Amino acid sequence: MKKERIDKFLSNQLNISRNSVRTGVKRGLCLVNGNAVKDFSFYVDAENDEVFYEGNRVLYKRFIYVMMNKPAGVITASSDKSQKTVLDLVPEDLRRRRLAPVGRLDKDTTGLLILTDDGEFAHKCISPKSNLEKVYIAGLDGEITLEIVNDFNKGVTLADGYVCRPAKLCGIGGNYVEVPVTEGKYHQIKRMFGAVGLGVNSLHRVAIGGLKLPDDLAPGECKEIAEIAKKIKI
Ligand code: URA
Repeated sequence: MKKERIDKFLSNQLNISRNSVRTGVKRGLCLVNGNAVKDFSFYVDAENDEVFYEGNRVLYKRFIYVMMNKPAGVITASSDKSQKTVLDLVPEDLRRRRLAPVGRLDKDTTGLLILTDDGEFAHKCISPKSNLEKVYIAGLDGEITLEIVNDFNKGVTLADGYVCRPAKLCGIGGNYVEVPVTEGKYHQIKRMFGAVGLGVNSLHRVAIGGLKLPDDLAPGECKEIAEIAKKIKI
């Protein structure tokens, strides 16, 4: 049983302000187990009570997990004074008050980004201890040589002396290469290729753990992730 005040419960589940919920509850827009509840300090059993608001059933979800196909030109932040952020792209029905991106993709990087209001999950995902694999496709300004493949296999040393974990490069045609990494240092992929003398023209993330970016998720689109625990084991 998870007891929660009705104003907090509705505000969080429906992503509407606490004040607006209180007004709605006082006006009789809320039913709990078939009875009108007009007192917004009323406690519900969030997991078991049947709650309706404005005629619609409010199904309780403790946390929400959203995947986005991040387009280029948008920053990975929750808010910004002048630039468009990934949060601006999340549709109303997937928004929650504490929804935030998990980790960070550069402004020009595209592809799979997870957003959640589950802070513990987010923390585990970005921790290098979790060994969570993120797979990128990098478009390079030069050719991948056997020497570069070997350097990545051993662990590339970045300009600041940091030795990266080994990464198994896989050529996928032209100057495109698939790069799996289990760390998430600042500009890691660009710095790894920079260390072996290559520039990154494009960077696209295609997978995080067992979660793959679906082919039919267009740039800028979002989709709720069902059963996250089965896809990302951390
Ligand atoms: N590595 C980078 O260099 N940039 C990203 O956006 C992600 C990984």
